[in-house]
Amino acid sequence: MPDRSDAHHTVWLSGEFIAAEGRGELSIAYQPIVDLASSRVVGAEALLRWTHATRGAVSPNTFIGFAEPEGLLSGPGSFALQTALDDLAAWRQSSAAARDLFVSVNVSPTQLDSPGLVTDLKQAISDRGMALQDLHLELTETAPPPGPGAVKALQALHGHGFHIAIDDFGTGYSSLLRVQNLPCDSLKIDRAFTAGLPDDVACKAIVASSLALAHGLSLGTVAEGIETTEQRDHLHRAGCVFGQGYLFGRPVDATTFRTMHLD
Ligand code: C2E
Ligand code: MG
Ligand code: MG
Repeated sequence: MPDRSDAHHTVWLSGEFIAAEGRGELSIAYQPIVDLASSRVVGAEALLRWTHATRGAVSPNTFIGFAEPEGLLSGPGSFALQTALDDLAAWRQSSAAARDLFVSVNVSPTQLDSPGLVTDLKQAISDRGMALQDLHLELTETAPPPGPGAVKALQALHGHGFHIAIDDFGTGYSSLLRVQNLPCDSLKIDRAFTAGLPDDVACKAIVASSLALAHGLSLGTVAEGIETTEQRDHLHRAGCVFGQGYLFGRPVDATTFRTMHLD
């Protein structure tokens, strides 16, 4: 149970978070998403980073944890989207390997509720001469279910051709309902299940049934948290198409990403 000082600290931290973007404390790290058959890098997940002036790096699990319910992610969320598109445009200018690359950005349900989101995103894409499929939007399973406004926005985004991924699949309260009710193009299998591969019987069964569901619905598949070659080989044999994890690369800044994965 959090005590009074924890509560005070969170109030202080959320005040600091509100000021973070203006102080230039936010940045984006990128983690490669690879084709498991060839190990070719096909995409980059954009992950928000907050380096506080005195506290140093604050984990996204900490700041997303309070910022999401307090509705504080709209500014940082659009910073993540714009930065990811800018970095993809810059990579494409300097590297042929980035020509077919997509960026995958996490979006919170509250962000989806903002009016004009679909128009703004389409504009941001066309301003940079990109295609809608160049941007994947990841909707986490652990966040509160999207309300009616957010569902409408998701349907509009999907209808226009944006790629919607369900993140952390299998960890939410209503995973299957979400697949039934929300428009989506791919499932990201949570790293909690990858972690148990190749030996844990329950993880193997959950991964196999998630992949069967995705294939049955013609959805793309990405496994998260791949750290070993045994996990990669198991997932590839089980029919998972894309993968992500420390085995292929940790999240790094845009310049390092280009040097490590696109040169
Ligand atoms: P996520 O979207 O599921 O991102 C994957 C997380 O797993 C990242 O943690 C990444 O660093 C970590 N990870 C990747 N590969 C491995 C691995 O092989 N082993 C292990 N142990 N971990 C791995 P990170 O960056 O701390 O982000 C945590 C969560 O914060 C993200 O989970 C996402 O839900 C949220 N988040 C991050 N950036 C944003 C953002 O811009 N907007 C929103 N709404 N949420 C964000
Ligand atoms: Mg994600
Ligand atoms: Mg995830």
